[in-house]
Amino acid sequence: MSALSTTTTTNRYSSDSGSSISSNLTDDTKTSLAAALDTASFSWVAWFCSLKGNAMLCQVDRSYLEDAFNFAGLEELVPCFAQAMDIILDVQRDSGSTTDSIDRMSEDQRDIIESAAELLYGLVHQRFILSTRGLKRMYDKYKACGFGRCHRVYCRGQPVLPVGQSDVPGKTTVNVYCPRCKDIYFPQVASDGNIDGAFFGTSFPSLFLLRYPNLVPSLPVETFVPRIYGFKVHYSSPLNK
Ligand SMILES: [Zn+2]
Repeated sequence: MSALSTTTTTNRYSSDSGSSISSNLTDDTKTSLAAALDTASFSWVAWFCSLKGNAMLCQVDRSYLEDAFNFAGLEELVPCFAQAMDIILDVQRDSGSTTDSIDRMSEDQRDIIESAAELLYGLVHQRFILSTRGLKRMYDKYKACGFGRCHRVYCRGQPVLPVGQSDVPGKTTVNVYCPRCKDIYFPQVASDGNIDGAFFGTSFPSLFLLRYPNLVPSLPVETFVPRIYGFKVHYSSPLNK
């Protein structure tokens, strides 16, 4: 993702500019401002989720990203973990800052750090969408048909859910699960299918439907019947094996 400019790693909420503003704000206003910043459209998270091919990802809450507990065990899976964290959180440190370091890096080194940030975000995304807050965020996308519809004709346009065939990154790309025919498919939009399946994990559709049981559709009643010139193919035909 060489398209990531160094400006996206700059902390736009730096303590210098924030302190003079915040001193004039009431607590309620500060809370509202914090909430607004949490979903600010110019954050790295918002930028990353807006990229082509990442449409099925939701924006992980900043408060979730700031809780170190949610990253437990990921240090072993993600190279350059600390620098990747700083990119995700738009953190700019003082002397020897990550941003400065990135500026001095070669393009290859920057690509490594940026890829690490994307991997780290994907793995914490897998955890976030299983939380109450994350399930609600995915619910909103599902209701808007944000993950596409089932390819199967007799599922009548049933909305689908993203699923991975592994919780470990690098195994398979994301698939979509149809809760009507209970099978998995490649995403309808080809570019959506390039993302790692581990960014959603194997548990998401099942937990989602347990959380929202009213969304579980009835089983399809129709099945395709092979015919030749309008006549059903005999049961002994090789077509029916
Ligand atoms: Zn289906």
